[in-house]
Amino acid sequence: MGRLGIDRERPLFIVDVDEVLGLFMASFGVFLQGHGLELRLDRYALFQNIYAPGAAEHLDLAEGRRLFDEFFRRGCADMEPAPGAAEALRRISRQATVVVLSNAPAPARLGRARWLGRHGLDYPLMLSSGPKGPPAAAMAARTTRRCAFVDDLVSNLDSVAEADPGVARFQHVADVRLQPLAPAAPDRHRRIDDWTELGEAVAASLAER
Ligand SMILES: [Mg+2]
Repeated sequence: MGRLGIDRERPLFIVDVDEVLGLFMASFGVFLQGHGLELRLDRYALFQNIYAPGAAEHLDLAEGRRLFDEFFRRGCADMEPAPGAAEALRRISRQATVVVLSNAPAPARLGRARWLGRHGLDYPLMLSSGPKGPPAAAMAARTTRRCAFVDDLVSNLDSVAEADPGVARFQHVADVRLQPLAPAAPDRHRRIDDWTELGEAVAASLAER
């Protein structure tokens, strides 16, 4: 964790990639089309949304997981960045350390780092798996200043709230098609789908003493 460059005297911003910095589902959908499959955006899920054309039942979950891993192995190189994300992070990085925390399979590391660099998002990357509370709390413990966390999944936001309630939490869903489908918990985590507005809210929370 030392190589993440977390400074004890600076606020810390921890941010997710898929459906936060990048339009993951759109890119995964194109990848699946290349395999003769379709991604139906009828609920906020991943493997349950993959279908053979015309099929009533989604693809077997294990097969979905295999395709997901293959997509990551190829680096998700074509993923579009979320509008406004790079500019918001550039502003936040003037006042805070930025760390990208992504639940991606290990073989995705190089491709993911390259993708971040190509889109002006060249911040330290930590790959993780499972609930994000423990890694986020461990990072937050390395600064004496405020910490903020952004993710699209309520489960990760809940996990961070449990591991370190002092971390400011924001939910962001980048893809406009997914925004109405994504479950939210606004009583526990602020939901802001616009990166300009989100950047300002994050900056304000990090400026608190
Ligand atoms: Mg995500």
